[in-house]
Amino acid sequence: MLGIDNTFKVIFLVGFVVGSVIRKVYTAGCRGNKSVDKRKSVVDIILIIAAGVGLAAPLFYLFSPWLDFANYDLPGWLGCVGTVVFAMALFLLWRSHADLGRNWSAILQIRQEHSLVTDGIYRHIRHPMYAAHLLWAIAQGLLLENWLAGWAFLVMFVPFYLFRVPKEEKLMLEQFGQEYRQYISRTGRMIPNFPGKPRK
Ligand code: SAH
Repeated sequence: MLGIDNTFKVIFLVGFVVGSVIRKVYTAGCRGNKSVDKRKSVVDIILIIAAGVGLAAPLFYLFSPWLDFANYDLPGWLGCVGTVVFAMALFLLWRSHADLGRNWSAILQIRQEHSLVTDGIYRHIRHPMYAAHLLWAIAQGLLLENWLAGWAFLVMFVPFYLFRVPKEEKLMLEQFGQEYRQYISRTGRMIPNFPGKPRK
């Protein structure tokens, strides 16, 4: 029989695989939509890599003894909360990828056929994909009883988010002008604005 700790490890692993498949499928869908304005900076790349390390840290925890020195105990109910939060993260990741479609990119850029998405999940919230990553990072901490593997993604993601979002919104304003300004006025950055005011 799986103990409760192992159950949460399995739940995390299943979520990790589902999230990776979602990302892979939609990344493949972006192929061929070339970049026309790349805003890549060294800091951005370093922060993306750091976030990737935080995201991958659980694999070392789950499949090697290397991080065992950082194990600790969490009450079981936190794992139940983590399961719900992870499910919400995966739903948001799926919906944001589906709605953003071929406009998605890991680095900041404008693509050849870039259009401003203001529908679907983007109708209420401007950064649902970053919200998904934040929920994922919290779920990781609640599901894994290891302070390094559990919280590494959250610690790495927050600086990425704080650095990225102002730059992304500046780029969107440069590209879409008034349309994006109006979009900002009726949506929340990370917390949905319900009900989204009717679109002009
Ligand atoms: N911040 C968004 C998108 C993340 S992907 C979210 O969290 O859901 C990052 C890329 O998405 C950026 O390169 C930017 O060009 C593009 N982007 C961000 N918001 C967009 C929107 N509303 N419509 C179209 N492209 C957008």
